[in-house]
Amino acid sequence: MALVDAVANSIDVPLWRLFGGVSDSLSTAATIPTTSSAKAFDLAAKYYKLGFKTLEIKLGRNLNADIEVLQAVRAAHPHCLFILDANEGYTSKEAIEVLHKLNEKGVIPTVFEQPVHRDDWRGLGDVSNVARHKYGVSVAADESCRDLTDIKKLMEENIVDVINIKLSKFGVLGILEIVEMVKKSGLELMIDSVAETRLATGVAGHLAAGLGCFR
Ligand SMILES: [Mg+2]
Repeated sequence: MALVDAVANSIDVPLWRLFGGVSDSLSTAATIPTTSSAKAFDLAAKYYKLGFKTLEIKLGRNLNADIEVLQAVRAAHPHCLFILDANEGYTSKEAIEVLHKLNEKGVIPTVFEQPVHRDDWRGLGDVSNVARHKYGVSVAADESCRDLTDIKKLMEENIVDVINIKLSKFGVLGILEIVEMVKKSGLELMIDSVAETRLATGVAGHLAAGLGCFR
């Protein structure tokens, strides 16, 4: 990352342009961590005021508590889009039940990320099928994407609609390779960061804006 940044600086080109120049700006979601519904309400109200239109909510511990959190977020930010990140917290049966209950309550997510354990490929595919066809929800793989072999499998077997890739996991060259690999597959890409430095998050932002292929 430092070398790419040094090259960009030496030729006086901003990083986003070096990565492809598609855009110099990005829309991003703000994250609501696993928390109480009261705290989630306050955070959602704060992000609403700041202009965030999409919120990523960490769930997957307790179905009823999770639904309360979502309803609190919806009350504080009536029109926001949801990305639900279960961080492998459910079985496939529970994840499908979650979708069913959320649909009943009118808090259906846009993206349901990593609903089941990283190695439960079959469960991931089962949740995806129901999410896609019954609720119009995209399922994303995060922890299930450990390397290019995983991504190839997810792509070829049509297991999910979206993959979440991280700069800290794949590096700049790895991400460029993945982007090339999934180009014609219809698989969509999202990018996020895990407790990285501001510098690394900045590079990820430039990369995503410059490449322009992250939703
Ligand atoms: Mg995640």
